[in-house]
Amino acid sequence: MKENIEEIYSKVKKAAQKSGRNFSDITILGVTKTVDVDRIKIAVENGIDTLGENKVQEFLTKYDTLKNVNWHFIGHLQTNKVKYIIDKVKMIHSVDSEKLAIEINDKAEKIGIVMDILLEINVAEEDTKYGLKLHEVYNFIEKISFLSNIKVKGLMTIAPFTNDLEENRTFFEKLRKLFIDIKDKKNDNIDMKYLSMGMTNDYEIAIEEGSNIIRIGTGIFGKR
Ligand SMILES: *Cc1c(COP(=O)(O)O)cnc(C)c1O
Repeated sequence: MKENIEEIYSKVKKAAQKSGRNFSDITILGVTKTVDVDRIKIAVENGIDTLGENKVQEFLTKYDTLKNVNWHFIGHLQTNKVKYIIDKVKMIHSVDSEKLAIEINDKAEKIGIVMDILLEINVAEEDTKYGLKLHEVYNFIEKISFLSNIKVKGLMTIAPFTNDLEENRTFFEKLRKLFIDIKDKKNDNIDMKYLSMGMTNDYEIAIEEGSNIIRIGTGIFGKR
């Protein structure tokens, strides 16, 4: 695992340089689904201090023994489960409905925090994936703008699983353009800071196209 992580570090460095940024500008989020706690700890010891889970139940079991890391929630989230994670995660990557945004806002208000969220965008408009379509984003931002216990910190996407990485580059590029466009407009409830895109298969390209959070499972922990 140490070697896996070192390889990722060196590729992230190169990709960051290519896009005129530093290694330290990029967060490498370790995706821990199906990985047991002992192996997660090894990744943490090797510098992976931000972790992500996509299932609430699995997250809660792991959180119990691994509290001193930055947990992000990265998967589809049902509104009735928000209450279990609201006080445990630093950011929710996968907000794609008004109902979910309202619920997160409600629960955050109850415990007196402002939750950082990313909007999940289905750039390729795949039927099998969750997320807002690109053209829906402005309308969505408008609708949630009055919710003062959530803060939109950026955008997230899961690109198609493909061997055609250049095609994914076009999706990443589209999302970066939208990201910059929103950032330039300045809006109270929005602080465009993070672009969460790129997984084991395509993170180098994602970084070249402006990503600053990559979500890596297989590349760190091996095949699931
Ligand atoms: C599983 C998962 C990843 C990581 O996928 P790998 O290809 O194993 O790196 C990233 N993001 C989300 C939302 C996931 O569910």
